[in-house]
Amino acid sequence: MKTCEVDRIPVAEIANGHRLELVIHRLSGANEGPRLGLIGGIHGDEPLGIETVRLVMTAFAEEEFKGELIALPVANPYAFQSLTRNTPIDMNNLNRVFPGDPDGMLTEQLAYAICEHFLPRCDYLIDFHSGGNLATVDYVYLHDEGTLAKAFGCEILFRGPSYEGSFGNYARGTGVPTVVSELGGGQQRNEYFLEKGVRGTRNVMKALGMLDGPPDVPPRQQIVEEMTLIRPHQGGLMLSTVDATRLGESVPHRAELARVVSPYTFEELESMAAPFDPTVLVLVREPVTKVDPGDYAFIVANGATATQI
Ligand SMILES: [Zn+2]
Repeated sequence: MKTCEVDRIPVAEIANGHRLELVIHRLSGANEGPRLGLIGGIHGDEPLGIETVRLVMTAFAEEEFKGELIALPVANPYAFQSLTRNTPIDMNNLNRVFPGDPDGMLTEQLAYAICEHFLPRCDYLIDFHSGGNLATVDYVYLHDEGTLAKAFGCEILFRGPSYEGSFGNYARGTGVPTVVSELGGGQQRNEYFLEKGVRGTRNVMKALGMLDGPPDVPPRQQIVEEMTLIRPHQGGLMLSTVDATRLGESVPHRAELARVVSPYTFEELESMAAPFDPTVLVLVREPVTKVDPGDYAFIVANGATATQI
């Protein structure tokens, strides 16, 4: 078994006396090769990515590979502690403030530390995201020519915006190709999405020559260009008719996806329907959830403009 080196990089002293640190793991393979960075927990309500990083590092402590694996499993420890997307201390979204600022707000100081102490150790990156506490998601972003994103092995690749201030956008700008995966979330099909994330990492390692053999990709992959968020206009209980086993499926135009009912009067307040012909399901919520107007209910893609690869 190899030894995993662990570095603890101090970021800042918090008023509660806790020292905020980056905990970075490094595993070296038997031969020279690329340095692949794995980062989880940029959003604190996405623990599946953190667990995926842990599973990968645990497996490769006992398995040969070429190059190095550098892992930052919990990029935003305070957001993870509170299971929130944003840092609770300053309410900032870490994934919109890269490259950060050493003299800025806490989230900016954290981003700066990640850029100073983690990013320079990586030649390539995988940034693991999920759907948050109540939603499940299944796709990978396609932000460059896409060799690594395709190799990762999701059925859906989204050629979408690369958000200003996101870690992937910044890393790519510094010459570090980055795969941003969106896998799992909520509590639906955890084992399936953990396996998919680990397999995706192995696939990227194969594409980079860190492991032998071709990537294990699904027979059918499609690139979607047009994706939309469906948000409820009414708050109440949302009863979804599609669960996470349906992700990636196409449903007909106007098919009912969910109803919002009043938990007080029991009346139906709203029905949400598939907007495209056909509509590809990309993000779904848990079957019964509280919603407020404007929450994420679904992410769907236009199947008519999708291309098969
Ligand atoms: Zn995220």
